[in-house]
Amino acid sequence: MALIKQDDLIQSVADALQYISYYHPVDFIQAVHEAYLREESPAARDAMAQILINSRMCATGHRPICQDTGIVTVFVKVGMNVRWDGATMGLDDMINEGVRRAYNLPENVLRASILADPAGKRTNTRDNTPAVIHYQMVPGDTVEFDVAAKGGGSENKSKMVMLNPSDSIVDWVIKTVPTMGAGWCPPGMLGIGIGGTAEKAAVLAKQSLMDSIDIHELRARGPQNRVEELRLEIMDKVNALGIGAQGLGGLTTVLDVKIMDYPTHAASLPVCMIPNCAATRHAHFVLDGSGPAVLAPPPLDAYPDITWEVGTGVRRVNLDTLKPEDVLEWKTGETVLLSGKMLTGRDAAHKRMVEMLNNGEQLPVDLKGRFIYYVGPVDPVRDEVVGPAGPTTATRMDKFTRQILDQTGLLGMIGKSERGPIAIEAIKDYKAVYLMAVGGAAYLVAQAIKKAEVLAFPEMGMEAIYEFEVKDMPVTVAVDTKGESVHITGPAIWQKKIADSLAVEI
Ligand code: SF4
Repeated sequence: MALIKQDDLIQSVADALQYISYYHPVDFIQAVHEAYLREESPAARDAMAQILINSRMCATGHRPICQDTGIVTVFVKVGMNVRWDGATMGLDDMINEGVRRAYNLPENVLRASILADPAGKRTNTRDNTPAVIHYQMVPGDTVEFDVAAKGGGSENKSKMVMLNPSDSIVDWVIKTVPTMGAGWCPPGMLGIGIGGTAEKAAVLAKQSLMDSIDIHELRARGPQNRVEELRLEIMDKVNALGIGAQGLGGLTTVLDVKIMDYPTHAASLPVCMIPNCAATRHAHFVLDGSGPAVLAPPPLDAYPDITWEVGTGVRRVNLDTLKPEDVLEWKTGETVLLSGKMLTGRDAAHKRMVEMLNNGEQLPVDLKGRFIYYVGPVDPVRDEVVGPAGPTTATRMDKFTRQILDQTGLLGMIGKSERGPIAIEAIKDYKAVYLMAVGGAAYLVAQAIKKAEVLAFPEMGMEAIYEFEVKDMPVTVAVDTKGESVHITGPAIWQKKIADSLAVEI
């Protein structure tokens, strides 16, 4: 009979969360590298190069892969013969203490993103607690953990449906994935739960993402049941959509499709689909009473040695001297290296600014002619100017865009993923521009930030308005002043190319 010590459990959870903040699973690195080598779309290949370089830098620098260090999700299998040695806390409290310890570790502070009272005051709990915990009681005398930190951008794209039993699951997935846009930071995985009840399908979808990428093995040996057939069919059909890395258009959108199923009611076919992003983070360990779990770091040779080359056609821009007429010639898909000063602001800052404008109040910062970067950085450690600071999903700022452009004279925005029709129309009307940085390459992006200063709303923490001074920050023109969007043109081009090449093969 195993005696599990409370502090062993707390420390193991904390160590696992620190580990996954800077180490991708090796299977994920390999799958992205293979996709990178296969990729024919220059923009998507470039995005994957940044993700791989970022991954290696995080592994050596022990800093987070992404500025969104996630909501902690834990699957625990508790052996029914386990005894607890002097425990004073319940298991939930022990796990949350592990989360607290991990997110506040001074050497690698992680971003606290969890808000209590979600429908009301939305107050940051400051230590990223509580985790979302799922338990299972199983025979045996060990406690088994799957620990994940799930980014909000990918979690927000989860989809759920109650199909008719005669409906096609594949058709629903292929119809639904394009509606998810690029805010889930592909390439990644799709976790699909089929059956049970509505809530069971959702838990299965999440649980399926705790597994390693192994679809290449399945493809090599051939499917042996309906679920395995579905995995391959969905993977091939999703990739044929041409969405590509970061939604820029390309050959690889998903690296694997995971499915878990459960018996269901004769009248029902519940299906839930949850994507996992470029910051795929999960670890697995077992406590057997012999002490805290030890997770071995991935070997450094697991990381491909890739360098990111700036092409000759790259546009170098000084934000401090940029004029509105200069951006008129920028074209979608173009790589731009930004230097100079930019402002930051995301959901809470935009909401506050729009409220102030509606009340006739003066904003605390002048946005005229400036660029705003949608970001919520990690706090700095050691000699850092700022912690990892990748872009957040721009689509959430769409509803504010027209008013901000109209009433402030803002010239440009930087974020990740596509803009919706209302934002694109506003960008076109005001001859502004939207640039995208690579989601999931946050530590790499942060190297371009040379100075950071909070200018307004300091009480909002990571959502405050900062001024960043950057040097050669790489971005892509995603919506130009004419309203052309790379997230519309890129996938359309690559979907056609893939269809044409499949037709030739037939
Ligand atoms: S990679 Fe994208 S979706 Fe994933 S945590 Fe980072 S910003 Fe969020």
